[in-house]
Amino acid sequence: MISEEEARRRVLQSVGSLRERTVPLSEALDYFSAREVVAQLPLPMFDNSAMDGYAVVASSSKKGTRLHVIGEQPAGIDRGLRISPGEAARIFTGAPIPAGADAVVMQEDTTREGDEMVVNVDVDPSEFIRRRGCDLAEGQKILRRGERIRPTTIALLASQGFADVTVGGQVNAAVVSTGDEVVAPGSKLDQGQIYDSNSILLQALVQHCGASVKSAEHCPDQHERLIQAIQRGIKSHILVITGGVSVGEHDLVQAALRTLGAKIDIWRVAIKPGKPFLFGQAGGCAVFGLPGNPVSAFVTFLQFVRPAILKMMGGNNLDLPKISARLTVDLANEGDRPHYVRGRIENGTFVPIGRQESHALFGLSQSNALLRIAVGESLRAGEIVDIQTWD
Ligand code: AMP
Ligand code: MG
Repeated sequence: MISEEEARRRVLQSVGSLRERTVPLSEALDYFSAREVVAQLPLPMFDNSAMDGYAVVASSSKKGTRLHVIGEQPAGIDRGLRISPGEAARIFTGAPIPAGADAVVMQEDTTREGDEMVVNVDVDPSEFIRRRGCDLAEGQKILRRGERIRPTTIALLASQGFADVTVGGQVNAAVVSTGDEVVAPGSKLDQGQIYDSNSILLQALVQHCGASVKSAEHCPDQHERLIQAIQRGIKSHILVITGGVSVGEHDLVQAALRTLGAKIDIWRVAIKPGKPFLFGQAGGCAVFGLPGNPVSAFVTFLQFVRPAILKMMGGNNLDLPKISARLTVDLANEGDRPHYVRGRIENGTFVPIGRQESHALFGLSQSNALLRIAVGESLRAGEIVDIQTWD
């Protein structure tokens, strides 16, 4: 049995990043930038009005002043207006500021009378003007290599005129669930059988990481059938198998992998839940064997499969998001493996939820965070702890 850190190190060492590609912005969400990107335009690109109102010269626009309106400056076209003291130009939000003007009075603070306008407030210089470059300067870094592309990243790239972006590779995954007792949801259940919840869980987790599911199948605990399923699965970049990796007579995954000449790098890791975790390589495919118990499959996916997928996609932050929270109960780990406790983060507190056993799917479904308790560690209610989140 190896440590969790060692297992993670070995997994990450044996996967590499895939070839980068350039995609339209509309398809870039949740991929990782393969380049550092700098601003080619300042934001705003020109001084413009923050309001519908009048562009004026502040020093000649004291409260009660009557100004002559010389023209109209809409957004989208520069009319090339110039104003002098005593004059104003009608202006709209986003329109370029006419030459000579140094402030905008909002419409609500004016009274229009024919081609004249009365200012009803004192006007300060620069008021309601959005200055060129005040948000973003030309040449400023806007995207780091390996940074995840979020909706707002896409908006920023679009505002720079970029129609596409170069991102890391697209990871595709095969999912194989095993077990004679496991039946696809939607079919009839006989005595002693259970529905396959892991397959859909793992497919969702794969997609949640930004990878795509190329195939998903169920396989009974039969050596030959497993070999065939694995042969199909290793055509993807990664193969995630669930069940059949433990020590029982029906746990045949490891033997099937060996028959196929796979290299088994890891089997059994000091982690609770998830001890039987297996990792190997077959025909250029990274093969993950996750335990069949749903919570074990979930935890080992997040701790080992997720970082591998993110690395292959070119991500620079492979860790789950961490949040500090106040623990609501005393917790101790008297076992010999680090324990991931499932719970809920709510209003800055962490509350363990449901039965902390590896089969307890309901509790897992109600949780949104994991607390890792190291071997021998005891935590007291009220303590601030670091929590991993995934939602
Ligand atoms: P295994 O790792 O194959 O020994 O399975 C451990 C436990 O997980 C058993 O109780 C299985 O019935 C259960 N299990 C295995 N595969 C699945 C699955 N795909 N969905 C839900 N539970 C499963
Ligand atoms: Mg099984």
